Amino acid sequence: MSDSAREAPPRHAPSYPFTVLTLFPDMVRQAVAHSIVGRGIAAGRLDVQAVDIRDFTTDRHRTADDVPYGGGPGMVMKPEPVANAIRATRERQPGARVVLMSASGRPFDQATTRRWADHPGGLVLVCGHYEGMDERIAEHYADDEVSIGDYVLSGGELAALVVLDAVARLVPGVLGNQASIADESHEGGLVEYPQYTRPPAFEGHAVPDVLMSGNHAEVARFRREAALAKTRRARPDLAARVVEVVIDKRRPANPSRPARLGRPRPGDDQ
Ligand code: SAH
Repeated sequence: MSDSAREAPPRHAPSYPFTVLTLFPDMVRQAVAHSIVGRGIAAGRLDVQAVDIRDFTTDRHRTADDVPYGGGPGMVMKPEPVANAIRATRERQPGARVVLMSASGRPFDQATTRRWADHPGGLVLVCGHYEGMDERIAEHYADDEVSIGDYVLSGGELAALVVLDAVARLVPGVLGNQASIADESHEGGLVEYPQYTRPPAFEGHAVPDVLMSGNHAEVARFRREAALAKTRRARPDLAARVVEVVIDKRRPANPSRPARLGRPRPGDDQ
């Protein structure tokens, strides 16, 4: 059986549900209409609902924000419409993980992506805007609060789309070739090896000979070494952690610990 056949989802597998709660649902609808996510929706593997938080306001003016207590610049998103939107979505999407997009959240990474792709209830991604959201939403209504990087966006929509895209491509049946995922950047603690395609020489720059040699063992060795070299160059922080794990593995302290090359994972030091 080929890899893709083995990993193909059952014919009537339920689609993976995402709901994005936002003041700008059209931003989300437009973005998910294209490319791999768009095809995943068309194929019934993904279900993406963009819900307008303003539909859950209760006053005549559909007010979603207010001035901050204690003073300061800008406006803060009011808690009631967001809490009402989360409640309604939890009813429609039982078991969903409710994740708040936030510049002060836990850093989003590939390990989180993998965990969430396996979460049967799917995701509810909540987008802030203006100066952010009343803190009581993070404290009492969301399951998680994540940041996509150490910078401040004007709204959570682009962050939610980043999370959605990264999770969606791991849902079985969304990417054509699931086998390619294993070698990708961040899956094994390294960045991906450099990739090349035709032509063999481009404006005087040649493809490494070994890739055209047909020698699979040599190609694999080149890729392993090139991935490590590129990680050292571009991401010394990741490379240092890989080396730590390797050194740690060589200590005979814990013979039950499985030997592997990669980043420390939760449970490593138990
Ligand atoms: N005053 C806030 C920033 C608000 S930015 C602060 O200093 O932390 C407005 C909204 O954009 C936030 O509510 C959040 O939903 C989103 N956002 C901004 N930066 C983000 C980031 N790095 N990751 C995820 N969401 C972010």
